[in-house]
Amino acid sequence: MPLSLSPAAKQRLSDLILSVSLGNLCVLRRWYDVEDSQAISLDYFRTHPPVNTPLYATLLGAAIFSVFFWLLATLVRRMGKPWLLTAARAAFLAALIVCLETIRQYWNVRNDRADWGSNLSLVALDLILVAGMVGVLRGQLRILHTAERVTMLMVLSLPLFLIYFAGMHSLREPAAAYLERSRLPLLPPRPGSGKRPAPRVLWLLFDELDQRLAFDERQPGVELPELDRLRAESFAGTHALQTAGWTMLAVPSLLSGEIFRHSETANATTLLVEPAGSKTMVNWRDQPNVFRRARELGANAALVGWHIPYCRVLGDSLTRCVDEIGGMASDALTQETYFAESGLPRSVATVLKWRWESLVGLFQPAPRAGEHALDKYIQARHLQDYLRIRDRAYAQAVDPRVDFLFVHFPAPHLFAIYDAHRKDFTLSEKTTYFDNLALVDRTVGELRKVLEQAGLWDSTTLLITADHGLRYALWHGGLNWTPEFDRLLEAGQSPTVPFILKLGGETKPLVYDSSFSNVVSGDLGLAVLSGEVSTAAQAAAWIAGRAEPRKVTAR
Ligand SMILES: [Zn+2]
Repeated sequence: MPLSLSPAAKQRLSDLILSVSLGNLCVLRRWYDVEDSQAISLDYFRTHPPVNTPLYATLLGAAIFSVFFWLLATLVRRMGKPWLLTAARAAFLAALIVCLETIRQYWNVRNDRADWGSNLSLVALDLILVAGMVGVLRGQLRILHTAERVTMLMVLSLPLFLIYFAGMHSLREPAAAYLERSRLPLLPPRPGSGKRPAPRVLWLLFDELDQRLAFDERQPGVELPELDRLRAESFAGTHALQTAGWTMLAVPSLLSGEIFRHSETANATTLLVEPAGSKTMVNWRDQPNVFRRARELGANAALVGWHIPYCRVLGDSLTRCVDEIGGMASDALTQETYFAESGLPRSVATVLKWRWESLVGLFQPAPRAGEHALDKYIQARHLQDYLRIRDRAYAQAVDPRVDFLFVHFPAPHLFAIYDAHRKDFTLSEKTTYFDNLALVDRTVGELRKVLEQAGLWDSTTLLITADHGLRYALWHGGLNWTPEFDRLLEAGQSPTVPFILKLGGETKPLVYDSSFSNVVSGDLGLAVLSGEVSTAAQAAAWIAGRAEPRKVTAR
């Protein structure tokens, strides 16, 4: 039996469907993020299974907009004023234009450059809708009715999204996938030679510590007294080449002592890497790592790490392991973390707020309003990460049972969390990468002090290096970036990273100017641990010996 409705009921139903569809289109940008966050590869940067807060906040945000539009439509129908109906019809077309423009701007930001095909198609649609608005004012409703029919059809996207997300939910990794691996038992202390205690090594990786900006071309006003003091009694390599331009390739290469050509996350525990000369990706976990080799030397290896889920992946190669896992590895994941921390009511408010900011942003030259709010959140999280890593690193550094310690510090990686002038932590838009350099300097000074107080300074070797230099592509134009950095990075990112080796008991400096790959860091640390290298001159000879054969085999 065909469904027969009165014209008034039909009208009400069509208003309802249009309101729901338009409400959903208003949060289309959020659906993109919810969809992006479904990727299982993002689990690598999670500490627990994904939470549904972003999905619920998006649905509730869409519902609030839908109710708002439906109430408006009902009010306009009730009042029955023709001019009001015309205004409402034009406003409906304007709302569609806003939705299309938000998506167009999002595509441009996401792809980091304008895609002409998509831009032209969306602008053409915008123009048709503008023509529709003119038509409505003149009493011609052809374009309006077509737009209404298309919008009503698009309501189907809502159940399709939900079916898709339900499907993705069933594919999620279980909570057990996020468990850390159990540690190795502590070994008894290693015997020293004669009166000298057994060497211990602290390998300190400062994320994004740039050789050029920190040392080679230090700008006036940038003061790094502790690093300079350390360099004045250390082996300092001035041309240590980074293993890769970004963390997820550089750090695994450093820890495995082999430069991987490519890396990608697969799930909560798997980072796939492509070794040189291999055409297949292998699990990084199964590759050699410096900690297992330290264990073979009878050493207790410990790790305090940032960003990478070290303890889940390599925990069973270590006697101690603590990490602060990324959680900010992509926009979608940052949002998920933010929403999960905020709770549902505040997340819904955020969805509405971002919709408003995005509307305002359409009339501003730089459409970054929504992102900026999250930048501040990331900055605050970054400071918390730094403080936790710092405290744990100092605790492990002064424990004499730890023979080999690797620390991955989240500084001077942006955002800036320190004020060099005030010599204190701060969350500001005005601080820069240089302030974070001063934080690295302070960290090195504090570490020296705690080691001296523990009576371990002379028996401890420090190796300070980085994964890569300051990345223009990632940070330019954002929070804590200034035109000065545009100028400084005009010639490209520094390919070199600091390499400062302060050998235990040695104070004679040596500047090593030849170029070598930073990939030797781990092996050199082990050579110090085994007693093979104990002076700066021996370190220079060791590196010179390593640099040559590697070059030949690489050819
Ligand atoms: Zn990095």
